[in-house]
Amino acid sequence: MTQAGSTTLINPADESVIGEVVHTTLEEVDAAVARAVGAQRVWAALAPAERAAALRRFAAVVDAHVEELAQLEVRNSGHPIGSARWEAGHVRDVLNYYAGAPERLIGQQIPVAGGIDVTFHEPLGVVGVIVPWNFPMTIASWGFAPALAAGNAVVLKPADWTPLTAIRLGELGAEAGLPEGLFQVLPGRGSVVGERFVSHPQVAKIVFTGSTEVGKRVAAGAAALVKPVTLELGGKSANVVFGDADLERAAASAPGSVFDNAGQDCCARSRILVERSVLDRFLELLEPAVKGFAVGDPASDITQMGPLVTKQHRDSVQEFLDGPDAVVAFRGFAPEGPGFWMAPTVLLPTSRTARVATEEIFGPVVSVLPFDDEADAIALANDSIYGLSGSIWTNDLGRGIRVARGIQSGTISVNSHSSVRYTTPFGGAKQSGLGRELGPDAPLAFTDTKNVFFSTSAG
Ligand code: NAP
Repeated sequence: MTQAGSTTLINPADESVIGEVVHTTLEEVDAAVARAVGAQRVWAALAPAERAAALRRFAAVVDAHVEELAQLEVRNSGHPIGSARWEAGHVRDVLNYYAGAPERLIGQQIPVAGGIDVTFHEPLGVVGVIVPWNFPMTIASWGFAPALAAGNAVVLKPADWTPLTAIRLGELGAEAGLPEGLFQVLPGRGSVVGERFVSHPQVAKIVFTGSTEVGKRVAAGAAALVKPVTLELGGKSANVVFGDADLERAAASAPGSVFDNAGQDCCARSRILVERSVLDRFLELLEPAVKGFAVGDPASDITQMGPLVTKQHRDSVQEFLDGPDAVVAFRGFAPEGPGFWMAPTVLLPTSRTARVATEEIFGPVVSVLPFDDEADAIALANDSIYGLSGSIWTNDLGRGIRVARGIQSGTISVNSHSSVRYTTPFGGAKQSGLGRELGPDAPLAFTDTKNVFFSTSAG
């Protein structure tokens, strides 16, 4: 038997110990997958309406625990309470949305010579969902809700630093009456639990959200077994501000688009590209917006940004700021004392190829870069290995459409910073990912299409 390790969890806002989570061993992962295989058979044999009802019950139980889940996320991850309540409510909404799917997994009837073909969307079996630490609840639900709706079982590995809300969601699923073993949350190391999901022959698909570096390893491991993967990876998204835009609105909204969740957001608009002719005016408007961004106690309703998730992560963000290309234009404020705090920081990088302008920092740091015209804006936005999200600010509708089509990213918004709605597809281009989550088609990504031919020939 492998010896189980454990992780001591620290509240990032005050550095107090909030608990200890025991890691799942390899043998326990294998036992969990075996239970999931049995549970999936029971689940898939239920009538579609019964599976739909079970998911609605799960949503109702989550709804009854929104406040508890939110408070847990505040303590474990340092998310501001307002954001954490939204995240827990989002899990309920995602479950309710996909509760409609079991009764709508509609195949096709195709007339062919000598009979008909009928297609069925068959569940894959057991799906492994691997989740990062930045949005522990929401990202988990984007995997488990459509996978369950399509008739699969799910084993889920939360991130080592932030496992508490996912563990609680696993308990709430059981409380809602999901078949035993259908949805299991297995905390532990990526190198043990995550890798075993990838190599286990009975885990039929991997949904991985995390860094591009680890995502490539997961994809390579899955390829060895010809196992499908959905990859949601890193980003360095551009917020493109044209001279004809409402500069006041663009500047007022920019801090929220990058400092939300302390910049620990794959969709963070961590590069602001500004038309050179309005750069000075934009910076003048941006400075008070950054300085007014409320950083502090995540338990307070007025807080917009809490601490970074761990000391280790804060140190890695600080390393970028200590580099020679990180010229600080201005900074907001951060509390003193215990906690992994960092002030929102605006940089004017020394060049377009500076490390701070090209690499994902994943902290409250944004680089402002000037551009000359529309073609230059598109070229600069696309000069990245990533292509996850982004924003365009302009009052010229045609330009908004042209630039939105020209920027290589999975999602982009014009005169807004919205990225995620559970009703629309979400995912990355280039090295930001592979496949799409959310939206009406998400359950189909957890099925194989089976084609059955019925002969109509007589005799
Ligand atoms: P990470 O280090 O890649 O870890 C992500 C998850 O993978 C964690 O649960 C981790 O476990 C696990 N893992 C680590 N090594 C593994 C391996 N060899 N095999 C299988 N699983 C393994 O990423 P992170 O630091 O948690 O998250 C930040 C990154 O996620 C950023 O790059 C961000 O942009 C990206 N992200 C992308 C999206 C999107 O939708 N595109 C959304 C959110 C975040 P441990 O916790 O034990 O290391």
